[in-house]
Amino acid sequence: MIKTKAYAAQTARSPLAPYEVLRREPGPDDVQIDILFCGVCHSDLHTARNEWKNTLYPAVPGHEIVGRVVAVGKDVKNFQVGDFAGVGCMVDSCGHCPSCDEGEEQYCDNGFTGTYNGPVFGGENTYGGYSQSVVVKESFVLKIQHDEKDLASVAPLLCAGITTYSPLRHWGAGPGKKVGIVGLGGLGHMGVKLAHAMGAHVVLFTTSPGKVEDGKRLGADEVCISKDDAQMASHASSFDFILNTVAASHNLDAFLNLLKRDGTMTLVGAPAEPHPSPEVFNLIFKRRQLAGSLIGGIRETQEMLDFCAQRGIGSDIEMIPMDYINTAYERMLKSDVKYRFVIDMATLK
Ligand code: NAP
Ligand code: ZN
Repeated sequence: MIKTKAYAAQTARSPLAPYEVLRREPGPDDVQIDILFCGVCHSDLHTARNEWKNTLYPAVPGHEIVGRVVAVGKDVKNFQVGDFAGVGCMVDSCGHCPSCDEGEEQYCDNGFTGTYNGPVFGGENTYGGYSQSVVVKESFVLKIQHDEKDLASVAPLLCAGITTYSPLRHWGAGPGKKVGIVGLGGLGHMGVKLAHAMGAHVVLFTTSPGKVEDGKRLGADEVCISKDDAQMASHASSFDFILNTVAASHNLDAFLNLLKRDGTMTLVGAPAEPHPSPEVFNLIFKRRQLAGSLIGGIRETQEMLDFCAQRGIGSDIEMIPMDYINTAYERMLKSDVKYRFVIDMATLK
């Protein structure tokens, strides 16, 4: 076993603190990665604090991992020692259900194994990327084509990038489509960049007036302050698609009203408390749809990484040392991050 320094929460109320985990020695199909950078997703915070009521402790969060390959098993074909590689939210799935067969491992009928908190098949707990190294089977490791100097800004693509790319593709964001992105946080800012790169007309909805200029710089054609009823009313019944990334319970009708006939709003935000039930008549009268979406499959994650590398797209990040993580969580709760914290793993000593 490989001793690995990490940061863990021991209970829902304790701050994250130094901890040591054991990684398995790489098997024939495994890739061992020294972690260089790990993004800080709001799901990390939900998990560390047991907000989804399913956390196994100790909990080592982190599923936006970029690093360097330091060892490969004898059957590994696509990675060599020295390559840069990424790991996202999953490290395994059953591999034989209809969803896995279609490359949608995140919807595995038998439950995918999360990079952290993920012993779906009854195994030991999994520990995520707030750590120095990770061992992952090759089929769940991603290739990184970005320049080395941009690697830190690639890390958030492994969750925030794919979680927004997948639904934007699935619901056809592109030229001629009016697409709304709700919330300018880690997911939302990637949603704005990606929807813009796909050629859609992008409207950002934010509760933060201070983010208007950034929203436009990131690719929004228009920015709407969602607390301003007059601004909201000006967009009534006009959207083909709205991607809602908000991490807290809120009134969905305010956004469902903005969909045109047959439009869809997809929720990717996963708040601890349920949203108030939407008004049924808002859905019925315009055949509107309310949907959900979970990260994305490995094949699509690679497609997203390549799409971003070709266009020079990365995340806007604030680099932090490992021991800043508890402060970072408090700032994330106040929407005070532009727009993703990324841990420099060299600071975990
Ligand atoms: P984040 O960086 O904290 O961003 C969330 C944004 O939501 C904030 O920046 C803020 O944007 C807005 N917001 C926060 N509280 C709000 C409130 N009370 N009312 C209205 N807007 C509010 O979080 P994230 O990392 O992007 O994650 C967002 C959510 O997605 C989390 O719940 C996370 O667990 C979930 N998630 C889901 C998946 C999936 O597969 N479905 C994957 C990853 C993450 P403004 O300041 O612009 O209003
Ligand atoms: Zn995430």
